[in-house]
Amino acid sequence: MTQDKAAPTSGSILVVGGGISGLTTALEAAEVGYEVFLVEKNPSLGGRVAQLNQYFPKLCPPTCGLEINYRRIKDNPRIKVLTLAEVEKIDGGPGNYTAKIKLTPRYVNENCTCCGECGEACEAEIPNEFNLSMNRSKAAYLPHPMAFPQRYVISPQIIGTEDANRCKDVCKYNAVELDMQAKTVDLKVGAVVWATGWEPYDAAKIDNLGFGQHQNIVTNMMMERLASKTGPTQGKIVRPSDDQAPKSIAFVQCAGSRDENHLPYCSYICCMASLKHVTYIRAQYPDTKVYIFYIDIRSPGDRYQKFYDKIKEDKNVFLIKGKVAEVSEDPATKSITVVAENTLTGEKIRQTVDMAVLATGMQPTAANIKLPADLNYNSDGFIINDYGKGGMFAAGCANKPADVVSSNQNATGMALKAIQTLVRR
Ligand SMILES: Cc1cc2nc3c(=O)[nH]c(=O)nc-3n(C[C@H](O)[C@H](O)[C@H](O)COP(=O)(O)OP(=O)(O)OC[C@H]3O[C@@H](n4cnc5c(N)ncnc54)[C@H](O)[C@@H]3O)c2cc1C
Ligand code: SF4
Ligand code: SF4
Repeated sequence: MTQDKAAPTSGSILVVGGGISGLTTALEAAEVGYEVFLVEKNPSLGGRVAQLNQYFPKLCPPTCGLEINYRRIKDNPRIKVLTLAEVEKIDGGPGNYTAKIKLTPRYVNENCTCCGECGEACEAEIPNEFNLSMNRSKAAYLPHPMAFPQRYVISPQIIGTEDANRCKDVCKYNAVELDMQAKTVDLKVGAVVWATGWEPYDAAKIDNLGFGQHQNIVTNMMMERLASKTGPTQGKIVRPSDDQAPKSIAFVQCAGSRDENHLPYCSYICCMASLKHVTYIRAQYPDTKVYIFYIDIRSPGDRYQKFYDKIKEDKNVFLIKGKVAEVSEDPATKSITVVAENTLTGEKIRQTVDMAVLATGMQPTAANIKLPADLNYNSDGFIINDYGKGGMFAAGCANKPADVVSSNQNATGMALKAIQTLVRR
């Protein structure tokens, strides 16, 4: 059957979430001829992958995968991207949904050339969310250097202030629109793919691990930003308390995962993420000692096992099988002491290090903010795909904890499921 015959005369697909899974679903469906609306709540696409310094298995910067996808989107008129957009309500059934989308004003229109003058003129600063609030940015800002779309945002916090007027006055391109209003649009679609992804588990909820109490305890996503050239330290991994090079670092695996009080499941990726972080540390510090405290190291598949085997060859990496029971800080030096019981020897270990990284897990976004649709969730908040009912599907980490490769495979499958809904109508 040719594509033309397979394609229905009407019917489009709504993809909610513009991370790697949503991008993949949108592109796979659009490139075989379907109209796609890609709705992203943030001002730019890319999701969590955009925040990584490098991603395995090849350890490429996220630009290598994401920019190809952005190019494909630009070249494909069938994909309509809506940023700062969220679904408010969905009515109807498979083949015939009406989605009400709320658009939050950016206060900057398509004329923006990213010249940066408004950022220079603006005096107010806001926490830089892309860098997990480790630094601040101007309230007129580009979300991050490789943001797509490449367009500034003006924070609602300065609307109505002199700062906002300064931004408008300085813009030579007539791009600042301070009277932009929130609005809603109705989209008629035949199928919906939820690619709403994940959030880092809130490490402050894990009482015994000291996050938020001790400065030199960071999370694994903070480590991604610390190691990134576009991060708060321009890529230098330093101790937050004094910006010094760490001579020793501890990784606490399963921080909040595989724990009935927090996330009962394995987050799949955080063992590999810590092993990857060893490569970031080694690239900057040949002698820094790394202590990895783990329950089991999970390195699924041949490629990840080889990656793990390579890390094990490093004489300054110490893998300790033992769950961390507590951490404490020396108030004078700000060093961190990690206490665990070595499950192989039974011996109690106290290891003092310059800084510690909590390998926190992935929690589905929908666990904290329920989506406005008739969906089934498991007890952890991941969306269960009901193929019998059809019409709406979950892709990537909205469905289960996953790496980029498996998210993409799953997202491709969900593009097909969405297309089948339209064709069978
Ligand atoms: C520390 C760490 C390191 C990692 N490193 C690697 C690595 O090296 N290699 C690898 O393969 N994987 C890695 N991963 C896993 C990788 O981040 C995920 O596989 C990937 O992010 C999954 O993409 P996704 O699109 O499903 O979700 P996300 O990246 O979370 O994207 C979801 C998107 O949906 C948007 N969204 C959410 N809710 C809504 C809503 N209601 N409306 C509109 N938009 C919404 C979000 O803003 C976001 O843009 C790592 C994970 C961690 C924790
Ligand atoms: S809004 Fe205007 S001043 Fe600001 S970056 Fe865009 S073009 Fe430049
Ligand atoms: S991937 Fe590793 S650190 Fe993450 S939850 Fe599973 S076993 Fe724990």
